[in-house]
Amino acid sequence: MALAYIGNRLDRCANQRSDAAWVEAQRRAPDAKMVHINGEGTLAAGGHLVTDRPAGDAALVVFLGRDAAGAPWFACPSTLTENLAPLRSLAMENLVPAEELGIAAQARALIQWHERRGFCSNCGGRNRVVDGGYRRHCDSCGMDHFPRTDPVIIMVVRHGSRILLGRQAAWTAGMYSALAGFLEPGETIEDAARREVLEEAGITVGTVRYAASQPWPFPSSLMIGLIGEALTDRISLDDKELEDARWFDRAEALMMLDRTHPQGLWATNPYAIAHELVRLALQED
Ligand SMILES: [Zn+2]
Repeated sequence: MALAYIGNRLDRCANQRSDAAWVEAQRRAPDAKMVHINGEGTLAAGGHLVTDRPAGDAALVVFLGRDAAGAPWFACPSTLTENLAPLRSLAMENLVPAEELGIAAQARALIQWHERRGFCSNCGGRNRVVDGGYRRHCDSCGMDHFPRTDPVIIMVVRHGSRILLGRQAAWTAGMYSALAGFLEPGETIEDAARREVLEEAGITVGTVRYAASQPWPFPSSLMIGLIGEALTDRISLDDKELEDARWFDRAEALMMLDRTHPQGLWATNPYAIAHELVRLALQED
């Protein structure tokens, strides 16, 4: 199974979407497609997202981009509550092609942002959608608001041939994952990763290397996947954050990847970046 939500190949047409007439022409195109989003759910059937033509009177329509065949894709909020497929299930059960799963992630992040940003955070005035949905503008105070993406660092730490993984009490039994946390203002990616691992497990990390990234639309994160090299190995657990954190040797970690660990321990779902980071961390010498 491949990482989920990374397959979006839409051309977002960032140079054209500020032209409202151009966006409207896309919406009227006979091959235009609308994705319906309700919370973390959308519609899927027969191995594909269910789309329809974008209605002209919808309160909120966001332009997503054009696919390889030139078809424009849009998204809108939906009040449908039946037959919704959660984005996690679409990923876990491989229910739609990777590209469509990526499109659904883009749609979900954008629609959720719009649903919560109807008013200007500067003056409280009602703002309006421009640039095909990539900006909201407040006519009262002139402020522009842009869709947010929240960077999260997630890191597998190595010490010799062992790797550090932890688990939160709320997680499914036996699941261990890479340590993670939100990047804070004024921090580099490397500093945030070192801080999180020190706070949660008491481990000092030296070298930090970027490995991969993954959009995580719950609601709008970007997981920045890292591999770090520990300078210390004595764990001091922050039990408000983690229920457990420990070093796993290579043989154990390999069993956790393919879910053959004798104690039923496992290293996250394969569609999530932590699984891939564990695999990468074990590959290197
Ligand atoms: Zn304002």
